[in-house]
Amino acid sequence: METDTIAAISTPIGEGAISIVRLSGPEAIEIAAQIFDGKDLHTVASHTIHYGKIVDPKTREIAEEVMVSVMRAPKTFTREDVVEINCHGGLVSVNKVLEMVLAGGARLAEPGEFTKRAFLNGRIDLSQAEAVMDLIRAKTDKAMHVALKQMDGRLSRLIKKYRQELLETIAHVEVNIDYPEYDDVEEMSNDMMREKTKQVHDQIEQLLALAKQGKILREGLSTAIIGRPNVGKSSLMNTLVQENKAIVTEIPGTTRDIIEEYVNVRGVPLRLVDTAGIRETEDIVEKIGVERSRQVLKESDLILFVLNYHEELTEDDKKLFEAVEGLQYIVIVNKTDLSQHLDMNQVKELAKSQPIITTSLIEEKGVDELEKAIADTFFEGDLDAGDMTYVSNVRHIQLLKQAKQALEDAMAGLEMNMPLDLVQIDVTRTWEFLGEIIGDTASDSLIDQLFSQFCLGK
Ligand code: GDP
Ligand code: ZN
Repeated sequence: METDTIAAISTPIGEGAISIVRLSGPEAIEIAAQIFDGKDLHTVASHTIHYGKIVDPKTREIAEEVMVSVMRAPKTFTREDVVEINCHGGLVSVNKVLEMVLAGGARLAEPGEFTKRAFLNGRIDLSQAEAVMDLIRAKTDKAMHVALKQMDGRLSRLIKKYRQELLETIAHVEVNIDYPEYDDVEEMSNDMMREKTKQVHDQIEQLLALAKQGKILREGLSTAIIGRPNVGKSSLMNTLVQENKAIVTEIPGTTRDIIEEYVNVRGVPLRLVDTAGIRETEDIVEKIGVERSRQVLKESDLILFVLNYHEELTEDDKKLFEAVEGLQYIVIVNKTDLSQHLDMNQVKELAKSQPIITTSLIEEKGVDELEKAIADTFFEGDLDAGDMTYVSNVRHIQLLKQAKQALEDAMAGLEMNMPLDLVQIDVTRTWEFLGEIIGDTASDSLIDQLFSQFCLGK
């Protein structure tokens, strides 16, 4: 069977903040070997793990220290060659490794694609595959809408519109320079250019702001429940699971079993990944200190921070407040059925502007309010995901960021009154970055389009 090599970030069971970039397919070992500085992955034995560095093949820059496992077909989850790159440095570096792997020729895996391959290659049976695929598909209805909208080409229509706006600007400057005798074409001024670039810049910025929500809809909001022992973390977890029909999957793999639980809270999929230090964190600060805890907690999109109404605030509570400072969290003051010992003013002061919800989980009170707070945090009210254009592809997000940066360079140039033909270089780069999103980059097509734009030389 002809297949390409796919890659994606997957979160393992394990210790601390480890993330894995997993590759599967005929080129998996080759692609990993290109960026791996360590043993020659081509020759290592199957099912072995190796320490080394990930090095950008172009810049020779070291991106990450990693452990790489090599598993040759057919004794793997997908029955293809599988490589797992274990990164410990958090989301930024794992994304960087993923980007390099994609640049090296792998394709970003679709949700469920590893499972699909396992099925196609006979590793699991249809009902197992379907269960996993259903889960992935039905995480929420909203996620479905986003996927459909994207297939509908909404994103590419928007990108084309931005490119057209930029192209008109580029063409305009070009005409001013190359054909100064065309006086029926108005001279492009610094102000006009500023207005045009800002317009497109702001629209891209908006798209990127929505990208975060897009990712959440697709992958679920990775959620940590933290608090001192006995405050009610497990009770909270159970409540969320029971009220919202958690879907538990076990994906059997050869090297490890991954267990994830999704709960759908008012359209927000919470992903409670059973990774030490992420799902339920009792004495994380105790174990690894405030700074390191912050690093771990930063990896989650949302933190549910539980306090006990029946006890005074302790030093450990305060340390947890320190660890979550600046992150997105909701304070849950639990056990309100018992007498009050907690100073709520002190809690309000420490929580700053983050929401505080009071609950009695034992009496099932406050759960609605909590669910509303979770939904509000990410949808800011009743935002209807179906009407929005989301970007959730890593590559697209990356290119949009680059496009935005190039426009900012252009705007900075305008600010310094740089000549327009220099500013134009950054505008052209923006046009190219956007083109990569929709797969249209040929630089001579710029020239073609310039001409079709103005019908010069007629
Ligand atoms: P964890 O250690 O933070 O996971 O806390 P648990 O969820 O295991 O709860 C610790 C104890 O507190 C258990 O006996 C729970 O039944 C109890 N508990 C949880 N929520 C409440 C509540 O709202 N009120 C009262 N009175 N007890 C609670
Ligand atoms: Zn517990």
